[in-house]
Amino acid sequence: MPSFEELGLSRPVLRAIARTGYTEPTPIQAQAIPLALERRDIIGASQTGTGKTAAFGLPIISQMQPSTRVQCLVLEPTRELAAQVEDQMNVFSYYKPLNVVLLHGGVGYGHQIEALENKPDVIIATPGRMLDHMEKGNLDLGGVGFLVLDEVDRMLDMGFLPDVKRIIDQCPKERNTLFFSATMPPAIQTLANWALRDPASVEIGERRSPAETVSHAFYPVGMDQRDELIVELIKRTDFESVMIFTRTKKEADSLLGLLKDIEGARPTALHSDIRQSDRTKALQGFRDGTYNLIVATDIAARGLDISGVTHVVNYRVPENPEDYVHRIGRTGRAKQEGDAFTILTADELENAKSVEHFIEQTIERRKLEGFPYNYTALLDENPAPVRKRRPAPKRRR
Ligand code: AMP
Repeated sequence: MPSFEELGLSRPVLRAIARTGYTEPTPIQAQAIPLALERRDIIGASQTGTGKTAAFGLPIISQMQPSTRVQCLVLEPTRELAAQVEDQMNVFSYYKPLNVVLLHGGVGYGHQIEALENKPDVIIATPGRMLDHMEKGNLDLGGVGFLVLDEVDRMLDMGFLPDVKRIIDQCPKERNTLFFSATMPPAIQTLANWALRDPASVEIGERRSPAETVSHAFYPVGMDQRDELIVELIKRTDFESVMIFTRTKKEADSLLGLLKDIEGARPTALHSDIRQSDRTKALQGFRDGTYNLIVATDIAARGLDISGVTHVVNYRVPENPEDYVHRIGRTGRAKQEGDAFTILTADELENAKSVEHFIEQTIERRKLEGFPYNYTALLDENPAPVRKRRPAPKRRR
């Protein structure tokens, strides 16, 4: 692995890296940084927790000089992710007087307009609010030389495609575009073909495999005992920090109520019906240890960098198998060991099979010893082994 110095980053950025404590580049950084420094467009596929933010942030900051125009625009699907990237960009530009501004919905316009009047160099934004500001004439993108489209698959899932296109349209054609998406379905490929110029591909690791350091299992149970089992599982787990994913906001709220009764538990919740200021507090409190459990809907939590999560619990099997990989990617970050538990009920067997096919592994079924299980046929079921896909046989000429 080359060192950060060998990648060609500028002195102030190398000094900023020294403050972060990163000792060597991650694989995606080693690949993407030299390409971005040569001003190549990049199309990157990478799991969360691989150091993607620094892979684009470091080379961009390295090439920027303070000016009076917006030079770099980063689009993110969620407010939390945007805030996290803003934090990191501030860290990377510690020794360069760059002005980084965060724009997202859910908060008033006043501070954002003031910040824009101060001539930012870098904007990190969610597409909806970004477009609002553009339509109000609050900012000009004519000086954008670096455009980052991050978590593009999620932006598309959230219906941001038209907004994203309109924003890209307002950026100069002469620019460097860095495009990251965990998956590349045709709609995303089409967007990439339109937005990128002769991109270099960077793909790190097996996109499908859950983080190697995570031990994960399904806990089969009857539907009526889902709550009881999850509470018991948490009671018996020696955890420091747990993220629990639910499918709906209602499930998140009712689970939060149950967790409050567990001794030693300091739970909070994160979903889109919670006011932005409370979402920020929940996340901050979870990061600093005020809370040790966070119940979140997937949309609110995807891609968040919450290092040191010791356990992930899925209240239901995710409907979208990629989400399984993303979620359990929250634990086992930065090579720490982590555990991921998924509650499995009979109505979710199909989803469970999809997940196993997607990751090409059979997921172990575990029983919680001494738990007063009501009988369900699921408890007797032995999962069919999942066969690895073989490469297609070569055709004879
Ligand atoms: P990301 O994939 O950008 O969300 O980053 C995941 C985590 O890895 C963050 O906590 C980063 O601060 C951390 N990180 C990024 N690059 C490195 C590196 N080269 N060495 C150690 N940690 C890193």
